[in-house]
Amino acid sequence: MAPNIRERTYIMVKPDGVDRGLIGEITARFEKRGFKLIAAKLISPSRQHLEKHYEDLREKPFFPGLITYMLSGPVFAMVWEGLDAVKTGRVMLGATNPLQSGPGTIRGDYALAVGRNICHGSDSVENAEKEIALWFPNDLVQYSRSHEAMVYE
Ligand code: ADP
Repeated sequence: MAPNIRERTYIMVKPDGVDRGLIGEITARFEKRGFKLIAAKLISPSRQHLEKHYEDLREKPFFPGLITYMLSGPVFAMVWEGLDAVKTGRVMLGATNPLQSGPGTIRGDYALAVGRNICHGSDSVENAEKEIALWFPNDLVQYSRSHEAMVYE
């Protein structure tokens, strides 16, 4: 089977990442890796929107604090496309708890606390599709890049 170079993942710089001026740093890592940006926006989502995004965590004890944290400022929402985008995106982010994230990962380089881990990345292709539909219902951008043959065989 041909490798799927069109896999998509939803990546989000959380309010602490935006506040700390890390949008450029996080975006640059995905760009330099070879992924293609197909949507991006700075937004202040509603409580209802965030509760939908994190609906699988509704029963967790940290859920109310998570929503308060996510409402504390704008987020930078993105969709990145490329080979194994979901799994590779998670590797680039690092573990959920930054203390378990290796150096070289985004959380391992820029965060300390699990409740302030600066970024989100879809954890499965199925969840990526749901998250992209939630955050970007109709504004994905289609274009081709001149250097695609330098990124993929
Ligand atoms: P991930 O974001 O790595 O996919 P989860 O889906 O398990 O991780 O959790 C979603 C978010 O909830 C985490 O990124 C983090 O911001 C927050 N979170 C997870 N576990 C805790 C915890 N024990 N205490 C506080 N916040 C947490």
